[in-house]
Amino acid sequence: MKCNKRQITLASSIVIISVFVLSCSNETFKNSEPLTESKIDTTTISQPHYGKWGLDLDAMDRSIKPGDDFYSYMNGTWNKSVEIPDDKLAVGPMISMQDLAQDELKSMINEISLEGTTQGSDTQKIRDWYLSMMDLVKLDSLGLSPLMKDLEAIEKLSSRGDLVDMLAKNLADLGAAPMHLDFGFDAKNAGKTLLEISTTGMALPAREMYLDENYTPIRKSYREHLIRVFTLIGNSNPDISADNVVELETSMAQFTWSKAELRDPIKKFNPVPIEQMDEIAPGIDWTRFMSAAGADAQKIVNATTKSSIVSLANLIATAPISKWRDYLRYHLIREAQAALSRSFRDEFFDFYGRSLSGQKEELPRWKTAIESMGGRGYPLVDALGKEYVARYVPHDSRPILRNIVNNILGAFDKRLQQLEWMTPETRNEAREKLAKTTIKVIYPDAWMSTEGLDVVRGDALGNMRRGKAFLFKRTLDWAQNSPDKRFFFNSVYAVNAYANPNWNEIAFLAAIVRPPFFDPTADPAVNYGAMGAVIGHEISHLFDDQGRLYDGDGILRDWWKPQDAQQFIKVTKQLATQMESYEPLPNKHMNGQLVLGESLADLAGLTVAYDAYKISLNGKTAPVLDGFSGDQRFFLGYAQAWRFKGREALIDRLLKIDPHPIANIRPLAVRNLDAWYSAFNIQSDDKLYLARENRVNPW
Ligand SMILES: [Zn+2]
Repeated sequence: MKCNKRQITLASSIVIISVFVLSCSNETFKNSEPLTESKIDTTTISQPHYGKWGLDLDAMDRSIKPGDDFYSYMNGTWNKSVEIPDDKLAVGPMISMQDLAQDELKSMINEISLEGTTQGSDTQKIRDWYLSMMDLVKLDSLGLSPLMKDLEAIEKLSSRGDLVDMLAKNLADLGAAPMHLDFGFDAKNAGKTLLEISTTGMALPAREMYLDENYTPIRKSYREHLIRVFTLIGNSNPDISADNVVELETSMAQFTWSKAELRDPIKKFNPVPIEQMDEIAPGIDWTRFMSAAGADAQKIVNATTKSSIVSLANLIATAPISKWRDYLRYHLIREAQAALSRSFRDEFFDFYGRSLSGQKEELPRWKTAIESMGGRGYPLVDALGKEYVARYVPHDSRPILRNIVNNILGAFDKRLQQLEWMTPETRNEAREKLAKTTIKVIYPDAWMSTEGLDVVRGDALGNMRRGKAFLFKRTLDWAQNSPDKRFFFNSVYAVNAYANPNWNEIAFLAAIVRPPFFDPTADPAVNYGAMGAVIGHEISHLFDDQGRLYDGDGILRDWWKPQDAQQFIKVTKQLATQMESYEPLPNKHMNGQLVLGESLADLAGLTVAYDAYKISLNGKTAPVLDGFSGDQRFFLGYAQAWRFKGREALIDRLLKIDPHPIANIRPLAVRNLDAWYSAFNIQSDDKLYLARENRVNPW
């Protein structure tokens, strides 16, 4: 799935974790054919996808010594033979898993569309939403007509009061709503939620694009795009209208918080009684705004990005109404474009796809149709997820994975007990937090209902409107009554995991719990080495410099002592130096500081996964399979999961921006584990050998 332009109902404290390369950069891996790893058969699995017991032995290069180049020992032959298809930037499990999940969704929806279904059921809603979006002939014939009423209302807009009403009403409809309301977790009261106010409103994806000189060409093509859109809707002065939009959005960019500020949960926790908002952020009649949004019941709101809320209220109060009209027009079209006629769809692809993202071809229509109902935060996410799980998730996956999770939690706790560099108080807090951590796996125990959402065949735009109204109503409800704790806040078919520190939980979604990471029919050593290490990786984040901001009950509270923080930095310095020594491209080293947090988590994950594997053996010796001991298979499973071949330009870019080490560097974490040395009889003259004092062991 590509990253959504908006995440409608996602509470801002939920951290989407990507254990792979940046999840949003998946947009560059768009086209799904051809699959680079062969298709993974799922519910019918009776034998592993990789090799006879989970490892692709044909991928190995046994002419290489494991102690000289462990990655190539496991993946060398694969690396030599695999080709990167022309339409892709890289090959590896992450990309093929993503392609697979999308193809599965497509065939599932095609099946549903052919089956009979009852009116009002989830499958009826999926079918009719999808078919409405796929009916391009109808969308082309309707042109702009489904938006005429909205455009007339914008035309008639004459007072500030009307403007405030419209911005509020748009929260539950198509159209601009830069003053954003969402539900959020009360960071000081465990289990409680509240309504959050934040600002959005720029069409370009980053504030820098409006402000930095480097982006002048993008601003120029954005203005040309705006002119074309205003021409398409028959505006008499498209140039002036375009300038009006740019001007308002540039003002917004100036007060929008930077990415670093937005990541600071303490700064973003500012609950205030709603009646104080008139004083805090004058310019808007807040009672009127809340009432027009249908949010009268909210007595306390969290003014998250306070200074930007103040500035936006002022902008709403002072900028000429004529400029706001153009802004409203453009954002209405922008939000509706996927369900408008061809000229609009082409124009939006031309700018956002081609100019802004360098995308050569438009997404196939079926992907756009699925995204519009089942992207993260869209109304049919769980309806699709439920069907997806029924079709594609093997029944025995969950208990096997649950068992791995329990052993990892046990292993982690043991490590915490023995951790020397942490003060006893902090260590106790950490153990308490771990004991309260919930690990959700594969799919939720309760699915969100679609009751109250009407989906009408042949009314694509109407479905979008009703979808937004449905989601906003649920947002308001969740702001009053916390959502069911069993829910997932992302789609199960996303190749991803997420952490919600407010509930002290991590969820591993179905589409990531697959070969080569996890296979219920594979040898346990391989599963522990691959999936176990990923689970351990994510758990360790609960205890690092970010995770420590929340305690075991999900309360915003830093429970580390200053000396723990100092010790942490000391312990981790050695790892940064180790990472710096790696060269994914000739003469281009890893940035040790940039990848420090993630490589620490890798190391922690691998360490506890190994411990957990030992626990799972319960004192017995693992059998030897095809000449490999259990310990060897554990490490090889880890190295297999990270096989990766990428184009130079991609690796170069990732080296600059991705906080994760390049995938094929990640297996080198094994150098820090004594168990790897004994498993493969690594000696001091082997290239990867590290003297004991140079092996990093933070946990
Ligand atoms: Zn991570």
